[in-house]
Amino acid sequence: MTLSSFPGDTVTSCAPARALRGVEDLRAALAPARREGRTIGLVPTMGFLHEGHLSLLRAARDECDVVVMSLFVNPTQFGPNEDLDRYPRDEERDLRLAGEAGVDLVFAPEVAELYPDGFATAVEVDGGLTSVLDGDPARRGPGHFRGVTTVVAKLFNIVGPDVAYFGQKDAQQAAVIRRMVRDLDFPVRIQVMPIVREEDGLALSSRNVYLEPADRERAVALSRALAAAEQQARAHDSLAAGLDAARIELAAAAIEPEYLEARDAETLAPVAGLTGRPILVAVAAKVGGARLIDNVVIEPQGG
Ligand code: AMP
Repeated sequence: MTLSSFPGDTVTSCAPARALRGVEDLRAALAPARREGRTIGLVPTMGFLHEGHLSLLRAARDECDVVVMSLFVNPTQFGPNEDLDRYPRDEERDLRLAGEAGVDLVFAPEVAELYPDGFATAVEVDGGLTSVLDGDPARRGPGHFRGVTTVVAKLFNIVGPDVAYFGQKDAQQAAVIRRMVRDLDFPVRIQVMPIVREEDGLALSSRNVYLEPADRERAVALSRALAAAEQQARAHDSLAAGLDAARIELAAAAIEPEYLEARDAETLAPVAGLTGRPILVAVAAKVGGARLIDNVVIEPQGG
């Protein structure tokens, strides 16, 4: 809504986005747009919005007629020792920011709405995509991605989006979802948006609120390590040189990574060197009270 108080002086005021809790309510709200053939964009989130989320919402607003944001802290993608209970939440703020970003509808169901008694089905992507990196059983494990793909498949069925937006910040998640969509013929285009970073390079994450000031300083070593990896890999035409440079940056900040690995960006297969295909260099590390992930893709150069 645009309010003009003086000629030439335009004040834009945005109401908070409307939250719907029920699957049927959401379907009913979207039915007219669907009948009219309008395009629907979906941005799945767990809330506690930051500029990373907002970049996805803005892309959806630019490209789609109707923008739906889901706001759901999905319990099935958290392991028993993970941060489900303390995951940051602020629905009122999220609805305000969503409204400002032009979101039409927020789907914010209770857990029982998506997982009613007797819920017994899962969507699982295999193919070496979900048992490596974060999916390694010694880390979050494949169950994390089973939780993600199951809830995203449900959201696709509930919303019926033409386009769904995800962040490159969760590179493995994006690769897994692309594969699920391809394998199960979901009629949706997956749009993956670049990582949004703080000025010093730290990738934005809802979990950054767990960082004490001293750890916040150290946490920048992750992005510094990935920048060094890309630069040194290119300079020496050597992936090993890139990974060595990254390890040095992490060690300088006394960060012991859970993993620092280079893999094919699409298949997540291990790579021994620069292959002529995009290479994902991914890192995960506990820094103080936060488990952080970040990545860079080294694109092949030249023709
Ligand atoms: P989350 O609420 O953490 O599940 O994130 C919701 C979506 O926002 C996912 O597709 C994330 O990859 C994306 N996202 C989170 N952080 C960033 C970031 N720093 N830059 C771009 N996208 C992000």
